[in-house]
Amino acid sequence: MQSLFERALERNDIEAVRRCAKADLHTHGVLGGDAAYIASRTGRTIAPVSSPLPSMDGMHAWVGAQIGELFSGPQGRRLGLEAVFVRALNDGVSRIVFGDDVWMITQQQGSASDLLASVEEVRARIAPAVQWVPQLDMSRHCKPEWLERWIAPFLELGAYRRLDLSGDELAQPIEVFRPLYRAAKAHGLGLRAHVGEWGTADDVWRAVETLELDEVQHGIAAARSPQVMRFLADQGIRLNVCPTSNLMLGRVARLEEHPIRALFDAGVKVTVNTDDALVFGVGVSEEFLSLYRAGVFTAAELEVIRLWGLET
Ligand SMILES: [Zn+2]
Repeated sequence: MQSLFERALERNDIEAVRRCAKADLHTHGVLGGDAAYIASRTGRTIAPVSSPLPSMDGMHAWVGAQIGELFSGPQGRRLGLEAVFVRALNDGVSRIVFGDDVWMITQQQGSASDLLASVEEVRARIAPAVQWVPQLDMSRHCKPEWLERWIAPFLELGAYRRLDLSGDELAQPIEVFRPLYRAAKAHGLGLRAHVGEWGTADDVWRAVETLELDEVQHGIAAARSPQVMRFLADQGIRLNVCPTSNLMLGRVARLEEHPIRALFDAGVKVTVNTDDALVFGVGVSEEFLSLYRAGVFTAAELEVIRLWGLET
């Protein structure tokens, strides 16, 4: 028998898709907020990226122009976090993974425990039924000795459940981050990293081996190598894919050709996520419906993918 989610996709009913429980396992904090909520609170309209950007610099320019200092300081942070949990509610996201970049400890906004409590306060007030998985983020361009110093108080807290690495994939070799990942693993964190968005299939394989990753953010370059896809499938590594982000950053030319299909066919566990819902203007619901309408997956296949996202 078909699920409500499959029927919603087949009827092209975005409201019904939104009502079905979904996960967003790849989203970057305040860049994943609800634009209408921000407009209602500030009078400011944020126009999402509507055509592919030439590079990451284009994305940074967009953030500078559209967002600027909007989320700076404790009040800005609160607004941004409120918008994230409002979007989760509107998008039917029942499980969301995000957190703070470890450099936030340098930002006069209190201790690691204050930062954690500020997210939890907003979640409990706006979206008490949404499960939030606290994540630590590191930027790939930061010196490892700085990251080591910044991450220590967060690890000591014992409340963070995931570690992620993002930013310029070509900034430093992946091996540099191995000691940080070892320390996070010793504290029981699940391990993930952004790789295979701008880099190669081999980069994905090397990052998984070197950092002992459980999951990969993007990882779509793996689809160019049957060997790497087999490795990911055999190891049970989940890829948290963001189709619209890949289109808007020129990683994929057309949704119909998105490598998520080849990864799925090779037995790799994939999920569908937003990356930056505020930047790209779409939630997880729209991502699922677009993949269905483009003929990338059947409704039954998307149901499998939706449930993979909700697995703990
Ligand atoms: Zn990302």
